[in-house]
Amino acid sequence: MTDLNQTTFQKCTAMTVDKTAIDTLVVGAGQAGVAMSEHLSKLGVPHLVLERNRIAEAWRTGRWDSLVANGPAWHDRFPGLEFDGLDPDAFAGKEQVAEYFEAYARKFNAPIRTGVEVKCVQRNADRPGFTVETSDGVIEARHVVVATGPFQRPAIPPIAPPMAGISQIHSAQYYNPQQLAEGAVLVVGAGSSGVQIADELQRSGKQVYLSVGAHDRPPRAYRNRDFCWWLGVLGEWDAEAMQPGKEHVTIAVSGARGGHTVDFRRLAHQGMTLVGLTQSFNGAVVSFEDNLADNIRRGDENYLALLDKADAYIERNGLDLPLEPEARAMLADPDCVTNPILELDLLKAGVTTIIWATGYSTDYSWLKVDAFKDNGKPQHQRGVSAEPGVYFVGLPWQSRRGSAFIWGVWHDAKHIADHIVKQHTYFNYRDATQRQADAARAPVQKASLMGVR
Ligand SMILES: Cc1cc2nc3c(=O)[nH]c(=O)nc-3n(C[C@H](O)[C@H](O)[C@H](O)COP(=O)(O)OP(=O)(O)OC[C@H]3O[C@@H](n4cnc5c(N)ncnc54)[C@H](O)[C@@H]3O)c2cc1C
Repeated sequence: MTDLNQTTFQKCTAMTVDKTAIDTLVVGAGQAGVAMSEHLSKLGVPHLVLERNRIAEAWRTGRWDSLVANGPAWHDRFPGLEFDGLDPDAFAGKEQVAEYFEAYARKFNAPIRTGVEVKCVQRNADRPGFTVETSDGVIEARHVVVATGPFQRPAIPPIAPPMAGISQIHSAQYYNPQQLAEGAVLVVGAGSSGVQIADELQRSGKQVYLSVGAHDRPPRAYRNRDFCWWLGVLGEWDAEAMQPGKEHVTIAVSGARGGHTVDFRRLAHQGMTLVGLTQSFNGAVVSFEDNLADNIRRGDENYLALLDKADAYIERNGLDLPLEPEARAMLADPDCVTNPILELDLLKAGVTTIIWATGYSTDYSWLKVDAFKDNGKPQHQRGVSAEPGVYFVGLPWQSRRGSAFIWGVWHDAKHIADHIVKQHTYFNYRDATQRQADAARAPVQKASLMGVR
């Protein structure tokens, strides 16, 4: 996958002389930037949030039309505001999520300037802080918080050649079935995006091939509790590190049509053709790894493990939640699982579109500071970067599993705001000699203020 994070430690280009100064500059006004602004406001830290588009733009134009939040409204929100007029168990539509963050920002009068892009951030050589070039002038900032999100640039593995007669788009460019040409679709990637898009296309009447890799698929709900609740009480949202070996495991959940458990066998029984991990292309002939059955089996294991943990939790805590033995019933393996397709000639199969639901990468090319590892990823501890004064918020696993999600980012933002305030304390410290000098200067300053010479 192309890594766009290779941050070159170069200088910014031209700089103008008129500068605005601010203690803390937050870059990006998605949920991470809004959360950051709330905590900085509460702590009285002068700050400004710059957003190149609109507040929560990703939820408006970066997602497909029918997308709803993956978690119910009672869960996928910040502590300080509920979704207006929405049943707590309902799943907010993407526009409702965007409006929620706009309303949230209005609630505390967040100092957000939209339509301003940060072009370059560079550490000052002769004084503390950073010089920030924006599309609307230059700003001096003591601290810079990078809240530009973990999902910035659509990432497509470089395995597919351009093919005449087959259009290829990323899931970020998918909006609805009507935009696609007539014909079958290959969806590559079966995380939450891929599986929901494939399901929507299948329901619209299209023939769909879905390439399924390693995945977790928690039950949507079990024994009257949503999986968000289960992951919360079982401490899994707060897990501080990913389990080894899970780096390439996506999570397949869906809030669509009121929420349902993702069940790949059911999709296949409804007519979708499942295939294993997409391996390589030879012209329009695509090869799939022979791992479909294994991927499905591991997904089942993950599903059943959560049911087991939930049952144990209920028993240990004596909770009165109804039994749900039918949740353990599995459909029979469909033919595409028992006799997997390992090679498919896309043209012969009538495939006219490939949708790559293969995730995102980041772009920090504008951040010319020493805050990155050799692989281009941020070097940080809970968002406090290796470059003093530069912070990240909203990174996956920044401090815990929930970090990149709505309910997790708010807590990480609080930690960053606290850190900035602590740095003020250090920076404002005056040693004995300095305090004496301050005291000696004080009467002179006071007298001069009173007009006495
Ligand atoms: C398809 C999809 C569905 C998701 N569904 C859910 C869900 O249901 N629940 C959940 O909790 N999470 C969900 N997430 C994960 C996450 O909550 C969202 O991706 C969310 O948008 C991340 O918020 P953020 O503020 O970190 O980043 P973003 O929302 O991406 O915000 C970053 C902002 O920074 C701005 N920006 C970037 N660079 C600059 C610059 N140089 N200058 C100025 N501004 C800049 C961008 O314009 C953008 O508005 C989903 C993610 C995806 C991809």
